[in-house]
Amino acid sequence: MIRVLDKATIDKIAAGEVIERPSSVVKELLENAIDAGSTAVTVEIKDGGTSFIRVTDNGCGIPKEEVRMAYMRHATSKIEHAEDLNSILSLGFRGEALSTIAAVSQTEMITKTATDLTGIKYVIHGGKEIEYKDVGVPNGTTIVVRNLFFNTPARKKFLKSAMTEGSYIFDLLTRIALSHPEISFKLIANGQTRIDTSGNGKLKDTIYQLYGRDITANLIPIDYTDGDIHLSGFIGKPFIARGNRGLENYFINHRYIKSNVVNRAIEEGYRTFVMQHKFPFTVLYLDLPQEKCDVNVHPTKMEFKYDNEKKLFEVCCTAVKLALTHKEIIPKEGEKP
Ligand code: ADP
Ligand code: MG
Repeated sequence: MIRVLDKATIDKIAAGEVIERPSSVVKELLENAIDAGSTAVTVEIKDGGTSFIRVTDNGCGIPKEEVRMAYMRHATSKIEHAEDLNSILSLGFRGEALSTIAAVSQTEMITKTATDLTGIKYVIHGGKEIEYKDVGVPNGTTIVVRNLFFNTPARKKFLKSAMTEGSYIFDLLTRIALSHPEISFKLIANGQTRIDTSGNGKLKDTIYQLYGRDITANLIPIDYTDGDIHLSGFIGKPFIARGNRGLENYFINHRYIKSNVVNRAIEEGYRTFVMQHKFPFTVLYLDLPQEKCDVNVHPTKMEFKYDNEKKLFEVCCTAVKLALTHKEIIPKEGEKP
């Protein structure tokens, strides 16, 4: 017998594809907080986010009458028409995050806009509404996600140890903080503060707050323009290179997007300066004309293509090389190599 699945089941299936692990939940909630214009965002997790995630922001909040709607699939305030999709580089998935997260966890949202007099507390467990009531709260939004995958045990089995899941969240927060130095981010894991950025808008201060003194003391600024491609940020002196790509950070139009072309270009720029199998520290912002970018966003992976990849490669590589040769790269006396 053919049947149309009910909403809760559809959301549960969709969630299986889009929400892979606690860090995917945190990513979606953080993007929402950023989109809401927040200047301070706190993420608290327990057990690597598997049992507890709480994201608190001071953004615009959700108007009372829209709270329930925010949890409907394809409910979004961010795009109206199909054409709008082109102008958005990467929204994890469109209007699906809250509904899918709520389908596979026990969630609670408290939200208030500046114009509403009171806020709303809204509780959903496994897609089912449990509570909806008025509460007195500050402006902004807090979302709690408990016991992710409690009703999809097969998914839950695929999670790694709490420590590993927690480290994914740590990495994610690091990247997001780097891409938004104007926002203060806090990560508290099992009661301990792990990340605390000031949000003063200065990238160098953010790098210091995330990576400490040794790296911050060995940065070379980059500011390079070629045609409609602009690169800025910092790259590390060659001797702080590491054995893996973990510190090769770059953001395309302020989003964390992976591009093999950019990775290869950065490494090529460093080629004569670092030993083989070593990878540089970078925090680069690439500004590219949106219309020349094509980001194919699959729920779990992202494919980035640029109109002229050869040009993109050349520009990145040249910018890195120039920065390396124009600066004193031999550590000064007293500086720790
Ligand atoms: P999307 O972000 O793709 O629009 P979501 O399911 O993540 O879809 O969110 C649905 C809607 O709920 C958003 O479009 C936004 O209007 C609202 N929303 C979600 N989180 C927040 C938040 N932290 N602050 C303000 N509004 C939010
Ligand atoms: Mg979203």
